[in-house]
Amino acid sequence: VHCINYTWLDIISLTTGNSIIGDQYRWPTTIPYYLEDSLEMNAKGVILKAFEQYRLKTCIDFTPWEGEKNYISVFKGGGCFSSVGNRRVGKQQLSIGSNCDRLGTVEHEFLHALGFWHEQSRADRDDYVNIMWDRIEPGKEHNFKTYDDTVSSALNVPYDYGSVMHYSKTAFNIASDPTIVTKIPQFMDVIGQRMEFSDSDLLKLNRLYNCTTSSTFVDSCNFEEENICGMIQGPGGNTKWEQLSSVSGGPQSDFTNQGQCKGKGFFMHFSTVSGKAGDRAHLESRFLYPKPGSQCLQFFLYNSGAADDLLNIWVREYDKVNPEGRMKLFKTISGGVMGSWELHHVNLDVRTKSRVIFEGVKGKLPSTGGLSLDDINLSSASCPQHIWRLRNITGLLATTPPGTKLYSPRFLSPAGYSFQDRPGYMATYFHLTSGPNDHSLKWPCPWQQATMLLLDQQSDIRRQMSMQRMVTTDPNKLSSDGKEYYWDNPRKVGSLVTEADGSSYYRGPGTGTSVFLSHSRLKSRKFIKGDDAFFLLSVDGERFTFGPNRQGHKSEGVNSSICQERGVHQTVHFRLHCADCEIWWRRNYGVGLFFRSWAWPLSSSERNFECFRIPKHFGQFHAPNLVGTVWSGPLPLPT
Ligand SMILES: [Zn+2]
Repeated sequence: VHCINYTWLDIISLTTGNSIIGDQYRWPTTIPYYLEDSLEMNAKGVILKAFEQYRLKTCIDFTPWEGEKNYISVFKGGGCFSSVGNRRVGKQQLSIGSNCDRLGTVEHEFLHALGFWHEQSRADRDDYVNIMWDRIEPGKEHNFKTYDDTVSSALNVPYDYGSVMHYSKTAFNIASDPTIVTKIPQFMDVIGQRMEFSDSDLLKLNRLYNCTTSSTFVDSCNFEEENICGMIQGPGGNTKWEQLSSVSGGPQSDFTNQGQCKGKGFFMHFSTVSGKAGDRAHLESRFLYPKPGSQCLQFFLYNSGAADDLLNIWVREYDKVNPEGRMKLFKTISGGVMGSWELHHVNLDVRTKSRVIFEGVKGKLPSTGGLSLDDINLSSASCPQHIWRLRNITGLLATTPPGTKLYSPRFLSPAGYSFQDRPGYMATYFHLTSGPNDHSLKWPCPWQQATMLLLDQQSDIRRQMSMQRMVTTDPNKLSSDGKEYYWDNPRKVGSLVTEADGSSYYRGPGTGTSVFLSHSRLKSRKFIKGDDAFFLLSVDGERFTFGPNRQGHKSEGVNSSICQERGVHQTVHFRLHCADCEIWWRRNYGVGLFFRSWAWPLSSSERNFECFRIPKHFGQFHAPNLVGTVWSGPLPLPT
């Protein structure tokens, strides 16, 4: 258990390291990018996800290229590669090739572009690792060169075995023997992680770009400090939330430290043992200023009260019309699973200055405990759709023979597809299964992106190094024998599965990875806490029509275009092209279209998504006249 609080040191000095020296190599903190058509569809979704992580954890932001002189153009080349730093060449290419469509890999390539070499290229690396030159594939030795302190800087951050910029022990090896041997043996299986930015990666990047705040981060609290992160007891209640480390009716300890850190381990508790029905207490956040768009509130709740005790999640929004604030209720949680810390997500939609309010309400039934809160995070992102909690995972791993598959319950995605995945030997696969809406769905299933995330239960979302993989359903993909469509209706291409309770359904083929996470990495970080692990699962189709719009960032859609099946197909922007548009998406004001590329530049703040289906054969087109409705202001989310 790590009991150390996280702080950023403020000292900057130039010593030897892996960042390129020279202001000419810096990008502006908002980097123009273009996603080329050559990219795989899944890669595009992963790239946008990586941008979300940059926004959450650093001050680096990404914006669709609008004709700026220098920009990063992402394409599918032969592998994953990038130049180091801003080379000021106009269109600077960065390759996300086959099998590069992983979050850690995309973050890694963009760190190169932002100005970082590999961690083992630091001038001081020989103090920390031995390079086994005779085991390196001949001709690949240059990958292990170092950069001295005239060209590179470590930004006063110590050598980091856990960097996402570090090679793995077997990089460019001839046989199976390692090419990199860490001087501290415990780090042999640490080097080469491609999960997420490490703390040092973030520290270096934030120093290099003088970040003082991240682009979209909103708030995080684990209630360890006495000031409880600036949260207050709101005026609306007649009782209070208390900062405690143990409650006789439960929980016995907090979630953050599981009671294992002396003098630490606090949570907020609303007792319902005494008092009368209707008693309430308001725990209110400080003023928050989230970026408009969707936000996700994540927290752990321990319910030891009565079944009719309630937790209400409110937001009080302040604007000119409502200077005292206007209350909006987002969720009510009652009863629920007793006797353990449970993970909850609430989607918020906040546009102005606001406070988040946790309201505890005592019910009529007798109680021996109450409601407890810990590890709150509010971030600018959509919440995962489903939580799959794996209890007693150590025992599960010990007793499960290698190769055994474990299937999650079936979940229904908003698009109507049900899915499941399995971590067998820490492999994860995504399957479509038969569900109640199959008759009204389009088959083969078009362009749904599934995200499977194993949560790093570190309390601050900015420091979480969760492992995630994404899979996209390509409706044109064929089965291995070429006889049927891979993502077709599971009733047609799947096999019948009968559950222990006698219920049955069809399960289609699965796609994913057999190397999702090694067992040693699984035991690192805080993937397992209290012997439980959480998979967060989502299936998302809108990502391909909206891109980062959902985060309240600059829209990347069609400025103004009407593309119709019969004849009219116009746009005001010459860069708009509708190649491969053949997917429909419905909105409450019509039918939308799907673009193969969404990275065309825009100059107006007005957005329009009044779009229609375009047949594939139209290809690229140019049309000068505007026809259609211009949609102003923030985009409405699809219903
Ligand atoms: Zn690299």
